[in-house]
Amino acid sequence: MTYRIVRPLLVLLFVLAVSSSLVAEEKTKLKGLLITGGCCHDYPNQIKIITQGLSQRVNIEWDVALAGSGKDIKVPVYENHDWIKPYDIVVHNECYGSVTDVAFVEGIVKAHTENKIPAIFIHCSMHSYRNAKTDKWRELIGQRSTSHEGKHPLDVVTIQSDHPIMKGFPQNWKVDRGELYKIEKTWDTATPLAKAYGVDTKKDHVCIWTNEYEGTKTFSTTLGHYNETMNNDAWLSMMSRGVLWTLGALNEDGTPKAGYEGTGKKEINLEAPNPDKDKKPTPAKK
Ligand SMILES: [Zn+2]
Repeated sequence: MTYRIVRPLLVLLFVLAVSSSLVAEEKTKLKGLLITGGCCHDYPNQIKIITQGLSQRVNIEWDVALAGSGKDIKVPVYENHDWIKPYDIVVHNECYGSVTDVAFVEGIVKAHTENKIPAIFIHCSMHSYRNAKTDKWRELIGQRSTSHEGKHPLDVVTIQSDHPIMKGFPQNWKVDRGELYKIEKTWDTATPLAKAYGVDTKKDHVCIWTNEYEGTKTFSTTLGHYNETMNNDAWLSMMSRGVLWTLGALNEDGTPKAGYEGTGKKEINLEAPNPDKDKKPTPAKK
């Protein structure tokens, strides 16, 4: 073939290659929503730890909804019926134990299950909505906890070391200052991945697990009272694998599937301004 014939073919191949890589990129760039706020924890700094730490490990960009510190606040973002639609995943790090509006709480769960959008639950999210007379929130989580032990060091023991979420997580992980949640019920749909012994209740409590509820995958950990429990590679990488697992984007060896890799691990400076803190939720299309 002469160059005159080959050249248009090369151009065509180049255009096809570029456009298919753009499609692949679009597919794997995830959009996450972090819902946070409420009682008892340093949520402004935890926003930074979660959004930056997870984006370093997963190809994800964030919107953040930070609500007030009262225990009875109904996070305004949930009032829009379609709030969840712009997102691939929602991370709940909220602490609103005194909200009692059943329709409101069940509406949050329905947004996840009707749209099959995975949920991640951290620490006080487990205690949120515990005074509402409905178990739907806890069924989505897979366990019920309504109280915690005193502040003690924790020995976190991996139960399922073969599970891809636990690949790379220490078999025994020491938390110098912890606050263990008492687990009162575990639904059959949940898969416990790690536990810790509670010195107050003198028994083990599952503290890392997966769940599947009405076709929606969720991943949860009760570990995360103090910022230092979260701001380290063991916790952040475990959370990242949990995020990827809920999205079907985690390889068996615990690495992200192609295209889901993050920007690369580095130290998170809590003193520096946080670029994600004012990224308000995307208005859902009606
Ligand atoms: Zn706490």
